[in-house]
Amino acid sequence: MSSKYNPYEEVLEVLDRAAKMLGLEENDYVQLKYPEREMKVSIPVEMDDGSIKVFEGYRVQHSSVRGPYKGGIRYHQNVDMDEVKALAAWMSFKCAVVDIPYGGGKGGVTVDATKLSIKELERLTRKYASLLYPIVGPEIDIPAPDVNTNAQVMGWFMDTYSTLRGHLSPGVVTGKPIPIGGSLGRGEATGRGVMLMTREICKKLHLPLKGAKVAVQGAGNVGGTAAKLLYREGCKVVALSDVSGGIYLEEGLNVEEIMDFLTAQRGRLLKDYDAPGLTRISNEELLLQDVDILIPAALENQITEEIAPRIKAKIIVEGANGPTTVGGDKILEDNGIVVVPDILANSGGVTVSYFEWVQNLQSFRWEEEEINERLENIMTKAFDEVWSAAEKTATTLRMGAYMVAVDRIVTASKMRGIS
Ligand code: GLU
Repeated sequence: MSSKYNPYEEVLEVLDRAAKMLGLEENDYVQLKYPEREMKVSIPVEMDDGSIKVFEGYRVQHSSVRGPYKGGIRYHQNVDMDEVKALAAWMSFKCAVVDIPYGGGKGGVTVDATKLSIKELERLTRKYASLLYPIVGPEIDIPAPDVNTNAQVMGWFMDTYSTLRGHLSPGVVTGKPIPIGGSLGRGEATGRGVMLMTREICKKLHLPLKGAKVAVQGAGNVGGTAAKLLYREGCKVVALSDVSGGIYLEEGLNVEEIMDFLTAQRGRLLKDYDAPGLTRISNEELLLQDVDILIPAALENQITEEIAPRIKAKIIVEGANGPTTVGGDKILEDNGIVVVPDILANSGGVTVSYFEWVQNLQSFRWEEEEINERLENIMTKAFDEVWSAAEKTATTLRMGAYMVAVDRIVTASKMRGIS
């Protein structure tokens, strides 16, 4: 049994394995083991009752070899430096696997955002943004939404940065509200990418998408959107969950109705939703359902060595970052369960973030149709490259994805040299 879960150590394990499979020497990739910069900040916030609370915040800039640091900001009570380091490294590999010109970074604040009022959330975000001001910027490091942050939070971040800078600077963050420089299609992009990757893997494995039984862990921006789009593709989404637990319906959930219900009001959860015939299940039970496709789209460390042997799904498409531990992954591989890895499966979000940033830099807007088409082209191409890499070395899609990504970063790094 593994000792305490440390996501950054898991990243290093996978990186070492991919490097070995690529035939790299330690010298070729050792710098990828160390984030280029790790910043920790203390964020004083005046609460609505007049008291001052100080929150801990982080920004880790893992690699800028292929471009500016890129990656979201997470608000969650379990955020710590090791988690943010892992999330930052995953961003470097994710951007490389879809071949967009970014490195990787990630930010986080240790806070239960659901306990804050909107005003407190705004003050927290603005103070965090001003503390990060010296190390972010459209050409330096470009944050975006992640768990418990959204377009509004990005709007506040962008406004604070722009005020300090002295001019409007929309390109400093992506995932903004559309009237202030956000991109069409960005809100749905991660979930759309998960749907596309599910479609591609089903094609390869000759599993018809229509009627396929799906379970989705997480009903937020990623899981909720993926569930909705797969439902529209004709999948039977039998199980869905969020922090309040899960729901199950053998004949398939009405995902459109559920998502309308959840998004109608801040703080609404699945425990508040009801429909005839619905059964309540736990988040763990959701992972163990007898389905064709399982989509973990919540947090890391879900499919562990304890859970993996009991998974019945044929295919796993990782909407979340790091949902499967190294130990869990090995068991899935032994059991012949095909996993589309996070760095590929959830790369739709950062891909449309890239489109948003390009539009901001050019002060130009693209149509949604064009965005969705470009997203599909980039992701299906990446899928094919990962598939081929995995096939060539008779390995998993995760190792295939890491081989593609690490090779791209190491090649760029060698061409640049060390200055
Ligand atoms: N937070 C998202 C991710 O983990 C999006 C990052 C971005 O758009 O920069 O991929």
